[in-house]
Amino acid sequence: STEWALAERPVGMPKLSDFQKKTVDVAAPGDGEIQVQNEWMSVDPYMRGRMYDRESYVPPFQIGETMQGGAVGRVTASNHPDYKEGDLVSSMAGWRTAWTAKPEAVMAQKLPDVGLPESAFLGIAGMPGLTAYAGILRVAELKEGDTVFVSGAAGAVGSTVVQIAKIKNCTVIGSAGGQEKCDFVKSLGADHVIDYKAAGGFQGLVKALKEASPKGIDVYFDNVGGDHLTAAIECARPMARFAECGMIAQYNETGQPTGPHNIIQVVGKQLKIQGFIVSTHADMQPAFFKDMAEWISSGQVKYEETVMEGIDKAPDAFLGLFSGANKGKMLVKLG
Ligand code: NDP
Repeated sequence: STEWALAERPVGMPKLSDFQKKTVDVAAPGDGEIQVQNEWMSVDPYMRGRMYDRESYVPPFQIGETMQGGAVGRVTASNHPDYKEGDLVSSMAGWRTAWTAKPEAVMAQKLPDVGLPESAFLGIAGMPGLTAYAGILRVAELKEGDTVFVSGAAGAVGSTVVQIAKIKNCTVIGSAGGQEKCDFVKSLGADHVIDYKAAGGFQGLVKALKEASPKGIDVYFDNVGGDHLTAAIECARPMARFAECGMIAQYNETGQPTGPHNIIQVVGKQLKIQGFIVSTHADMQPAFFKDMAEWISSGQVKYEETVMEGIDKAPDAFLGLFSGANKGKMLVKLG
């Protein structure tokens, strides 16, 4: 198996030399084990958090050890009664081309045949899709007719949030970096788009957001933090709900990050600001699968993927998340 380990803990923006390629022998499966050839692996922004040596909701990656992450592959040999050769499985044994393990050791699951391509289980029908679904419907308590602001709207989670909010008859404002991405967000049904790179910082974002929502926003789905969050507080209506999904603008920060200077408005506007982690909402998985399969087959939800070819490209794909190289889900195709 060709695998990627962390060579060094990145300081600030990660670079290619922070990663180290290894070749590892893959054993024949022992009792209760399966052998899998990965076909796709995911790179996700949260992996940046695992590169810091600190306590969090997932343990840090260890220097020299193969990293982990979402992957989808086929069973090539099995010594487990529930798995047979050819079965499609998702697992957390990513950043490698092949593996042998007990399924429960790598959170492996057999994937249902719902007529979706394999890669969809790492994106629209996988973790990012469920993040969008749980975040907008449960955490943000979306109601019909809400005015919803979504940052990172051209990404895996954000592009899904935009479309779910449109299905629920909301007015949607999406922000993304650059004209091409804004056109993409518009094509997903967003009523207004903001190119935050052209908007000119916090003041520019507030101006654009006020133009798009003269009466203010009811919901903010935050993928970015920073100026976006500050602008959302500024433009929030009384009792607005904020789903705090991620703050990618801060993941590579080396200095002391500054918080929203207008946080005092949370009191007067009685804002509800809630962070969430997708795994806490695993109980929504069955409803999510059912709704998403329907929405995709009826054409109400579309999804885009940005694919890099080959395990060698995995670090580039990961770095691309921070330069905005992806439209929709960023993936690495293996094999
Ligand atoms: P995306 O597909 O959205 O990829 C990341 C995107 O972030 C880039 O394409 C880029 O888009 C944007 N970006 C990067 N740097 C910045 C910056 N400094 N300011 C503004 N935008 C930036 O990733 P995901 O959909 O996988 O994740 C989106 C967010 O959701 C992340 O914050 C992630 O951590 C979070 N998340 C949280 C989960 C949870 O359980 N809470 C689960 C999954 C994801 P652009 O070109 O528009 O700048």
